[in-house]
Amino acid sequence: MDKDRDIKQAAKQKFTDYLTANKCRKTPERFAILELIYSDMRHFDIDTLSVALQKSGLPVSRATLYNTMRLLVDCKLIVKHRLDKNRAFYERASTNDFHLHLVCTNCLSITDYKDTELQRAILNKKIKKFKPVHYALNVSGLCSECARQLKKNKKK
Ligand SMILES: [Zn+2]
Ligand SMILES: [Zn+2]
Repeated sequence: MDKDRDIKQAAKQKFTDYLTANKCRKTPERFAILELIYSDMRHFDIDTLSVALQKSGLPVSRATLYNTMRLLVDCKLIVKHRLDKNRAFYERASTNDFHLHLVCTNCLSITDYKDTELQRAILNKKIKKFKPVHYALNVSGLCSECARQLKKNKKK
């Protein structure tokens, strides 16, 4: 799709400018990571990203991965969501794609949930002395599969 290609192109340009401005090296690994994230990653952590890179024939070291994620978060191309002290996940930054994250506390699955009413309310919100870059809301709970399993186990 052309729109997707434009978004990806814009992201690459932004990253290039950022790396130049911060005197960072423009390594092929860094751009491969960006390319992959903007192609087909939705919510992911370092482990899933590492596996996906390996599958695409481009194994990247942990150090490079962490380092690149830090840069991508810093130049606001991706957002890091912290679930608790030890767990976090990432996703692409976008102000017009507002959604809720339904996070299952049991299996840690993350499901997007769109609510147009909430979206309108949030996007229309003018926040003083603050410029929002990305919107997301995390709702913790139990997914239907886990709720069903737990209920079954209780009966035993
Ligand atoms: Zn679950
Ligand atoms: Zn999301």
